[in-house]
Amino acid sequence: MQQNILVYFRNDLRLHDHEPLYTADLAGAKVIGVYNFNPLHFSSHHLGFRKTGVFRAQFLIECVNDLRNKLQSVGSDLIITHGNPLYTIPDLCKKLRITKVYAHAEHAPEERMEELALEKLLYSEKIDFKLFQGNTLIQVSALPFGIHQTPLLFTDFRKAVEKKAEYRNVFPEVKALRNIEHHFLPETYTLERLGFTAEEIEGKLFLYKGGEKEALKRLHYYIWETELVASYKETRNHLLGMDFSSHFSPWLAAGCLSPSLILSEVRAFELTRIKNDSTYWLIFELLWRDFFRFSMLRYGASYFKTEGIRQQFINWSDNDILFNKWLNGETGYPFIDANMKELKLTGFMSNRGRQNVASFLCKNLGINWLWGAAWFESALVDYDVCSNYGNWAYLAGVGNDARLFRYFNIEKQADTYDKDETFRKHWLEKDGYYDTGIKPVVDFEESIKLAEKKYMESLG
Ligand SMILES: Cc1cc2nc3c(=O)[nH]c(=O)nc-3n(C[C@H](O)[C@H](O)[C@H](O)COP(=O)(O)OP(=O)(O)OC[C@H]3O[C@@H](n4cnc5c(N)ncnc54)[C@H](O)[C@@H]3O)c2cc1C
Repeated sequence: MQQNILVYFRNDLRLHDHEPLYTADLAGAKVIGVYNFNPLHFSSHHLGFRKTGVFRAQFLIECVNDLRNKLQSVGSDLIITHGNPLYTIPDLCKKLRITKVYAHAEHAPEERMEELALEKLLYSEKIDFKLFQGNTLIQVSALPFGIHQTPLLFTDFRKAVEKKAEYRNVFPEVKALRNIEHHFLPETYTLERLGFTAEEIEGKLFLYKGGEKEALKRLHYYIWETELVASYKETRNHLLGMDFSSHFSPWLAAGCLSPSLILSEVRAFELTRIKNDSTYWLIFELLWRDFFRFSMLRYGASYFKTEGIRQQFINWSDNDILFNKWLNGETGYPFIDANMKELKLTGFMSNRGRQNVASFLCKNLGINWLWGAAWFESALVDYDVCSNYGNWAYLAGVGNDARLFRYFNIEKQADTYDKDETFRKHWLEKDGYYDTGIKPVVDFEESIKLAEKKYMESLG
């Protein structure tokens, strides 16, 4: 019997290292792809901003266009739908006489619920739904422990996987596919079509272009062309520019770039050019990414509760005036404000910046960390549910951190990482001076003392 396979693309917007496509092709099936824009993802959060902001929305539109071009170039196509996937996908299956649906498995609870519901709906129509693991360096089945024994601490996780786990191989890219004939018109999405207003778009700096083509260009640039990977460990804590760290994150988050491809390129670089601490460290950071995904599988919905996976009931503040000052870069702490302005204007912030502004929100302002995580979810071009909520919970003291009470000394951090003030000046300077005239919204020492007291109280 002729198989018609629908490949449901979600956070895997690429053709390289794509097991669902590869397997469908190997089975001799006719293949077509679908991407669904879910209006819920663009709706408003109760704090007043969209769940997906303008940077990620634009990036996604570009990723989807690029994916369609690539699928067409190998003889297939991408259909774009808009709505609740529990309606749009089964509906499409009927119209195209689909016999199987293939997709990559996700790790967070909402996405996994969608998978379960979809499986049930498709099963009732006698359509198989098969999930593949393809967005981590290590597959769940290759872990040296059961998923519910995933270590609480990253160091324990890393040591165990570095010792025993096998890394996933890269799947060969499909070169030609047999298409499923259809009469769908080619849909083109724009920010306006997704409901964004001119005001939301105005003045923004769109630094990243979505799509696999750009992702592969960046990978080649960072590893082979400039060999920046060989000095990654020394530069990764810098703050300004495009080259201090890999900036792979937007493409990794949308799945335009497979982590396994990065690994295989780094290994090839190590064999033919240089192997050093820096090449190791890039993979070390990608293991953090894996770690938060497996932790998410282990702890699930707890990552979205204020008490986190540690069940730490801290008396968080819900001062929305202070929260908005933080969000808009108006705290009177130039290092915080520069980072927050960068995020608002570009959708990106360095890892060093993210750690500092998250610590400041939770420890100095004492504000509910979930609010900060929600703003990052909206604003970041590279938002990734597991990395975002995992890192936020960690910094709030309710996640995977071994230390009980930790905070960043903002002034000291600014002196260390922005000694000559270039970064602060870049985002805040007016008339050669970056004093914005804003008085610090809290006293640093006092606020830390209060946060520590609250934390200790939560321990009982
Ligand atoms: C509060 C907070 C929120 C964050 N939210 C996100 C998010 O939504 N999406 C996201 O991709 N990263 C997030 N990170 C992790 C990290 O800051 C970014 O991955 C990194 O800054 C992206 O830049 P890069 O690609 O140049 O990273 P590089 O330093 O070049 O690292 C290479 C890759 O390793 C992974 N990585 C690096 N650091 C981490 C980390 N701490 N946790 C998980 N993976 C990591 C990323 O995939 C990154 O692209 C967050 C960190 C913090 C502290």
